[in-house]
Amino acid sequence: MKIIIHRGTHQIGGCITEIESNGYKVFIDFGEQLPGNESADTDLPAIEGLTSGDVSKSALFITHYHGDHIGKISETVKDLPIYAGKTALEIYKCLETRLSYIPDENEAVKHKKIIERIKTINGFEALQQIKIGEITVTPLFTDHSAFDAYMFIVEAEGKRILHTGDFRGHGFRKKGLIPMLKKYAKDIDYIISEGSNILRPNATIQTEQELQKEFEKKFKNNKYNFVFVSSTNIDRIFALYHASKRAGRCFVCDDYQTDILKTVSKNHKKRSVFYNINYEQKIPHAGRFFELKRHGGQPFSFVGNLKPYLDNHGFCMIIRSNPAFRVLLDEYTKNADTKIYYSMWKGYIDNKSPAFNDNTAKFFEPYEIEFMHTSGHADIETLKNVFNTVNPKCGIIPIHTEAPEKFNELFLPHKIIPIKDGNPLEV
Ligand SMILES: [Zn+2]
Ligand SMILES: [Zn+2]
Repeated sequence: MKIIIHRGTHQIGGCITEIESNGYKVFIDFGEQLPGNESADTDLPAIEGLTSGDVSKSALFITHYHGDHIGKISETVKDLPIYAGKTALEIYKCLETRLSYIPDENEAVKHKKIIERIKTINGFEALQQIKIGEITVTPLFTDHSAFDAYMFIVEAEGKRILHTGDFRGHGFRKKGLIPMLKKYAKDIDYIISEGSNILRPNATIQTEQELQKEFEKKFKNNKYNFVFVSSTNIDRIFALYHASKRAGRCFVCDDYQTDILKTVSKNHKKRSVFYNINYEQKIPHAGRFFELKRHGGQPFSFVGNLKPYLDNHGFCMIIRSNPAFRVLLDEYTKNADTKIYYSMWKGYIDNKSPAFNDNTAKFFEPYEIEFMHTSGHADIETLKNVFNTVNPKCGIIPIHTEAPEKFNELFLPHKIIPIKDGNPLEV
């Protein structure tokens, strides 16, 4: 059996893992590099069984829909089978459909190709075992800032490997992480683990629950609340819905965001009331859900008495950095009762960060914003807990990290196996 990390041993994002056994190959994740790493994207050699050659004995498994894990699927060989979480796929399709309408023609074509590839992907559910020849893959549902994210147990030749993907221990499913690993991740030989937060040893990470409570307080104190958040950060958005309902504010988002939320409600409201929104509520009361419709970059049109109704009760509105929302922000920021919250990683609007996004930064320049965010990745305590629980017999392979060497300092007595991109490890 062989493990090859084609990319991602020394960087966050763009990880590609291959696990090979007797000619059968399971690949995990095939995404784009995060901004700041892009120059090396052209250096990636063709990968036999993924981007070239015979794919009859291989398959690609996707941990979650973030672009750095799935964004390059359209560059795989056409017949390569791809597997991803069922709800994750539906959400990703909504996102890519919206992106395929953006004005930049090259970008639009790229997203159209991805949509075509999405149609061929096989959706799976948690714990559904999938066999690729002699290799068995079992997906374990995990908590991350992407919804319907998975760890994978990959088994062959009597060996068991746990690939964590991106995960955390401070989301709404935080209590489930360790019991799940105790139950399913027994007898593990190797862990291939993410380490995004490895350089932040002292970061005390706020839980999603704490963040939701803080939002609730803010919504009670301020009438008009605009929240800039990733449209696919599902747990955060449902938390904002519950926070605004408890604060007696209306919850407002546009038609695209509504489609995504409805997908999640349809598939998950039976499992948890957290994902249950009454979208069609007719009786006016505070905490109601409203969908705004718009066409292209046009301003929103408020039907009937909706605008005075929202003005009267106050609201939490999910926004993105486009002209339609700009019009609303310009209008409401004249009122002292208005707050704008930035609920994403600060790096996108920090000009010292490699992921700095000029457009987003410019969009927020005229306004005063408040940062309200918590990480999508495990802190060091959680990583320790996971490693001690699973206690892999042969060692830990760090990926999705800028500092794999830090694993040695932090996770004694576990054996850390440092490998380089593209160098096979016989196991
Ligand atoms: Zn990632
Ligand atoms: Zn991610």
